[in-house]
Amino acid sequence: MSLRSQRTIRQETTAEGVGFLTGADVTLRFLPAPENHGIVFQRVDLNGKPCVPATHEFLVPRQRRTGISGNGATIELVEHVMSALAGLQVDNCLIEINAPETPGFDGSCKAVVDALLIADFEEQSAEKPMLRVSQPLHVIADDGSTIDARPFGRDGLTITYVLDYGATSPISAQNCTVNVTPESFVNDICFARTFILDSEIASLKALGYGPRTTAKDLLVFSADGVLDNKLKTDDECARHKILDCIGDFALTGCDVQGYFNAWRTGHQTNHELMRQLQDTAAEHQTKSQVA
Ligand SMILES: [Zn+2]
Repeated sequence: MSLRSQRTIRQETTAEGVGFLTGADVTLRFLPAPENHGIVFQRVDLNGKPCVPATHEFLVPRQRRTGISGNGATIELVEHVMSALAGLQVDNCLIEINAPETPGFDGSCKAVVDALLIADFEEQSAEKPMLRVSQPLHVIADDGSTIDARPFGRDGLTITYVLDYGATSPISAQNCTVNVTPESFVNDICFARTFILDSEIASLKALGYGPRTTAKDLLVFSADGVLDNKLKTDDECARHKILDCIGDFALTGCDVQGYFNAWRTGHQTNHELMRQLQDTAAEHQTKSQVA
């Protein structure tokens, strides 16, 4: 098994948009960072400009999104930005952010990918740590959705996502499998937008979420299909779920290698599976040191 070199961006780059939760105008400023720095968010709008590393240690429990918190700062909805960075193999980056959440953009991470591609990349001398699936793992959520991991006969990360909300759902059953590389991420994944049912919107608006977000800003499914928007591919929702997996897996700080098969799962199960994977990898390491 060969480890690749870590990478950062060659120059600073920015991406701007509106936050889905608060409606804030948000600017992300991506800065090059030294090897082994990892991905760190910095809330430049707060006193002392606190930093929060995007790792599992700083995860906070959230419904249907991934948030991190520490050092007196919180950043919500980091998963799409993390996915863009991991998909392009950007390992070290400081992200200045002036709001409590990342921009929603069009519901995908294409805007971040475009910004990072403009910045270009720089190889560093340190190796990127790898987290390899060495034994089958399985996580089942309270609603019965599952994600499992299996060892793979070769290097790489492959994810299958099976989305099936039943015959009465306006979102059709679909599945997608991607062998994740920077090329496949750019061509097949980064454009896939997040989605919601129109029946779920009223309760979110009642909580004050999405004051500036409309059906044009993401995929909203009604009984008649997608509202005010058009699917980019028939399986765009399954592709978006793979985008989410890549972003969530990136919080390990490692290149995750193995075969993953997800059925209707979301962020919480992704994080639980990564905790199991890190635990088994640590056990494996301890046993081989003892041996
Ligand atoms: Zn998402």
